[in-house]
Amino acid sequence: MGFSEFLGNERIVSALRGMLRRERVPSALLFTGPRGIGKYALARMFAQAANCERLKDDFCGECDPCKKISRLADPAPLIELGLAERGESADSAMVERMPLLIETNPDVWLIVPDPVRLRTPVARPMIRVGQLRAVQRAAYFQPHGRRRVFILDGADTMRWNDADLFLKILEEPPDSATLILLAPTPDSLLPTIRSRCLQFHFAPVREEHMEAFLKERTDAKAPERELLSQLSCGSPGMALTLDLQESSRLRRIILTLLEQAVTGEKSGQIFAATAQLAKREKESFENILDLFYSLLSDVLEFSQGQTHSLPRNPDLRRELEALGRKVNFEWILRATQGLDVLDSRLRRNVGRQLGLDAHIASLATR
Ligand SMILES: [Zn+2]
Repeated sequence: MGFSEFLGNERIVSALRGMLRRERVPSALLFTGPRGIGKYALARMFAQAANCERLKDDFCGECDPCKKISRLADPAPLIELGLAERGESADSAMVERMPLLIETNPDVWLIVPDPVRLRTPVARPMIRVGQLRAVQRAAYFQPHGRRRVFILDGADTMRWNDADLFLKILEEPPDSATLILLAPTPDSLLPTIRSRCLQFHFAPVREEHMEAFLKERTDAKAPERELLSQLSCGSPGMALTLDLQESSRLRRIILTLLEQAVTGEKSGQIFAATAQLAKREKESFENILDLFYSLLSDVLEFSQGQTHSLPRNPDLRRELEALGRKVNFEWILRATQGLDVLDSRLRRNVGRQLGLDAHIASLATR
């Protein structure tokens, strides 16, 4: 147990280990990269190493703080517990009064976007101002052990006016605390916040490492492993949770939607298909948008005649090539711009079906 178990991004790992070794740990770190790439796992390991009682070059995984912090490896049941404590019918005021804070060791807090269960099912989970206030208060307490670590997963979901509060902590950084912000991209955070963090961008894990990892951790056969690795774009966490059958089915539905959009099928049919898609409980709307982007980027390559390149969706190559021949660059540009608008609307919690219908309808080429 230790940093050696972390997959990929060796340069980031060794930079963090160097800081811990020299005891020169910055007060704010920003980890960016796609979902499942390991940002959270490495933040948790950092918290362990910063508090390990037997730290030499690596954390031991055996001492009391190491063990307690390692419970954060699977945060889902802890989040459920926190929500249950607050009660199922929490209103907005209650959500701020009893902020969701995950703590398995007094020095290490995990802050996640609060999946508040209000009546609107499309409400996007976000980091609430109550959570930020709690962090602000706790950041200046002396640690019980060596260092307080606050991991803010989904830091990009904090509202911009709340971010000012957060900025105050970064402007007067506590001596014995480190905030680790996790976000998909640097520009999903305000520049004022971004510039006060030491930034690390996580790159996709190399093909051969993914292959070895999937071989060890799954029962998947070689062709499936290859597909998992490609579909997850070198993201181990995503590859582990990806259900190939489910993914194939969902991508085919989206492909059909795109094909219908190209030929300008009757909108009623598209709406029905869209409704079905948007109501899917299992996949988040963000995942569906990601799949749209992924298929469109293949269509773009094929429309430019790049037939020898390796598509992101190799199992749908034939269909995507056919679609690529039917559309031009402008159409794809319109399609991706439409998705960008949807994506930003999503952040403002606009009804999901409304947005998707409008998008598909606007893509008819005639
Ligand atoms: Zn330890």
